[in-house]
Amino acid sequence: MELIPIDAHITGIDHNLIARPGVGMVFVVQGDDVAIIETGASPTVPDTLAGLERMGIARDAVRHILCTHVHMDHAGGAGFLAEALPNATVYINSMTGPHLVDPSRLIPSVERAVGPEAWPHHGTVQPLDPARLLPAENLHLDLGQGVILEAVPTPGHSADHIAYWDRKSGGMFIGDGTSVSMPRLKLTFPVAPPPGYNRDEHLATVARLRQLDISRFYITHFGVYEDVAGLLDATETKLAELYDLVCAALDSEQIDVPALSRQWLPYDPADPDSLIARSWGEMSVNGMLRYERKRREKAA
Ligand SMILES: [Zn+2]
Repeated sequence: MELIPIDAHITGIDHNLIARPGVGMVFVVQGDDVAIIETGASPTVPDTLAGLERMGIARDAVRHILCTHVHMDHAGGAGFLAEALPNATVYINSMTGPHLVDPSRLIPSVERAVGPEAWPHHGTVQPLDPARLLPAENLHLDLGQGVILEAVPTPGHSADHIAYWDRKSGGMFIGDGTSVSMPRLKLTFPVAPPPGYNRDEHLATVARLRQLDISRFYITHFGVYEDVAGLLDATETKLAELYDLVCAALDSEQIDVPALSRQWLPYDPADPDSLIARSWGEMSVNGMLRYERKRREKAA
């Protein structure tokens, strides 16, 4: 666990997602009230709680837990965190909130998407008490001291994706809504997971984000990204590369997912961190393949 100072009212907690530093964080946002953005996966919850303790934040002082979307590395820890933080309400899109209350469909879906190598790092999901859950899509959360968090629907990566715009700093907690960008791993790319990935919605989200006056992105995977237009450009470029690779593979009927992934996101297999590029890259090839197959079926 490492604390990462971000702004006077924002601190990141690196909770060692997938048993590595620099891959996943939750954000602690403080006004008069305390909110946490993202939950990590269940195995990261002890690190998040240790981070709060190191910050001197009492467990009963955390009032809000905001999730960007239902994937297990963003919301999977909600049940265990809500148990540990007794006064916190969990917010997520009402479209997927029921999966946190009854995770029986969520767990196998994530297992299929992330593949056998990364799956053991996702843990389980503790069912969330439905009384602790509220819809996030119209959230306007005033934490006091001028700290206001506003929900911004950002579908594409997933249909339920919501970003939270911090009106004090002008920065946006973007989740997986654009790209992940992990400086330690030297990787910046959009993630396109099956079964819900939608390229049209993702490109529309990127276009809408360009119209907003966002000062910087706070990225769950991983940290502050100051060049807003640069990240949106990089997202479009990497998406176009992936789409072209997938379309050419479908046209030629030569579909080798690991090879396509490695072409899109090259990695050194001897590097223990290559698990991230390999797992999230292959997941994205599969997600874009599924998207494009469905699009072609519909067009036929
Ligand atoms: Zn995700």
